[in-house]
Amino acid sequence: MAEIYKEPAPYKKDVDNPYESMMVRFDKAAELINLDEGVYNYLKLPVKQVIVSIPIQMDNGKVVAFEGYRVIHNNALGPSKGGVRFAPDVDLDEVKALAAWMTWKCAIANIPFGGAKGGVRCDPNKLSMSELEKITRRYTANLLEIFGPDTDIPAPDMNTNEQIMAWIMDTYSMHDRKTVTGVVTGKPLIIGGSRGRREATGRGVMLATLAALMKKGVNPEDTTAVVQGFGNVGSVSAKLLNEKGCKIIGISDVTGGYYNEKGIDINKAIEYVNKNKFLEGGNFGDKITNEELLELKCDILVPAAKEDQITVENASRIKARLIVEGANGPTSADADQILMDKGIMVIPDILANSGGVIVSYFEWVQDRIGYFWDELDIEHRLTRMMNEAFENVYLSALNYETTLRLGAYIYAIQKVANALKLRGIYS
Ligand code: NAD
Repeated sequence: MAEIYKEPAPYKKDVDNPYESMMVRFDKAAELINLDEGVYNYLKLPVKQVIVSIPIQMDNGKVVAFEGYRVIHNNALGPSKGGVRFAPDVDLDEVKALAAWMTWKCAIANIPFGGAKGGVRCDPNKLSMSELEKITRRYTANLLEIFGPDTDIPAPDMNTNEQIMAWIMDTYSMHDRKTVTGVVTGKPLIIGGSRGRREATGRGVMLATLAALMKKGVNPEDTTAVVQGFGNVGSVSAKLLNEKGCKIIGISDVTGGYYNEKGIDINKAIEYVNKNKFLEGGNFGDKITNEELLELKCDILVPAAKEDQITVENASRIKARLIVEGANGPTSADADQILMDKGIMVIPDILANSGGVIVSYFEWVQDRIGYFWDELDIEHRLTRMMNEAFENVYLSALNYETTLRLGAYIYAIQKVANALKLRGIYS
């Protein structure tokens, strides 16, 4: 008999509802720009929310039904774009919040996409490759009417990778009776992936940091940085910031952190994690907890692990002068004011980590034109677009005399609202 997979969501109990957390910022920005009530009502609700059942036969012969989600928050600027995460605690609220963030992120990045997000409630650590493949293919098959290069384009997110994107592409292509590379981004290079995608988010974090330091008149070589999370975003951010002369004095992952006032050898740490999966057991400096790491005295703090790391509990003890949000939602809504009062500049997630979706856009473009750019080309284009996005958000914040976070929301909301007004309401 089929059974519904249920996994307790241990950390969710204590954190803010992510959709509410997004709406707090949205409401504040809407108020500052006196957003038209009709547009507000339109943007408050996602365009489409789909829940699918994913029954698969497990390796032991049992049939288990997983639950999958896809939320399209808005598609006024173009086909919707957003990752798919596999996690035991993923739920509709989380996916809705992440989908809305994608709408704002794509608008800020100036790419012709709306926002979406997807998820499957499962624990990938407890699944075999064959079970993961079945889940991915059935999830894709259930969403065939939603996905498409001109409608909705998924990408990797937490616990999903190039292989999973390859299965999505293949499943969609089998049903369409031809290879459709542009239906998904984050694919392996040989089947239509883009050069520079893996490093894109970390590179964007580095570029946003440099742009902020430039505004402050600070030389990166005179700065120290602390990076939380040592996965794709954290490790690349740390490496590239280090290459720009910034001394990385703290790093961490889920197993804990290290502090070294002389600076941590990031290449050595990356090599260690490639071999041992985690930082644990490495010789990088004094062992500290993740809580202590966030409160270290430094110039730049890059939370690049997960949501709700900087909250009312610890915000008053943060000593960094600049926070660059590599992760999605690392600062809870009620911590914003505390950071502002302390004069800490925060480059919000919807700007700071947009390098990933920008290079995803490059992948989609390359798939459609059938011509692939070299690494340097990608880097130049990404640098130009990140700098433009930073400048637009900075000016928006100056204009409304507000934080970069609200400046970013304002810029994005105004852009989507303009598109909605031009397109009109079809009813
Ligand atoms: P990842 O799985 O590669 O790495 C996550 C890292 O965080 C790991 O080192 C893990 O050990 C660490 N971590 C997990 N829980 C932690 C905890 N409680 N305390 C400290 N460290 C912890 O993931 P990623 O792709 O680097 O994504 C990190 C964040 O960046 C997520 O919020 C994700 O949504 C966001 N993001 C990722 C991309 C991308 O392109 N990968 C793009 C935009 C945003």
